[in-house]
Amino acid sequence: MTCKQLGGKCDQQLSAETWDQIVQVMTKHVIEKHPDVTKEMEEMHNEDPTNWAKEIKPRWDETSED
Ligand SMILES: [Zn+2]
Repeated sequence: MTCKQLGGKCDQQLSAETWDQIVQVMTKHVIEKHPDVTKEMEEMHNEDPTNWAKEIKPRWDETSED
């Protein structure tokens, strides 16, 4: 999956074996590359911690089916 598909801003490929891993990889990537996105994600997380996963997990499930 790309950063964009995960709610980020660039086309960098981020890969992981499991959902938990991709969450960690994505979190690290946005902290390093997109501090503004980190802030948006934090605010979203504060409002509803399940919001990001709800939106992104179905995309992960689709792309990891092969
Ligand atoms: Zn990115």
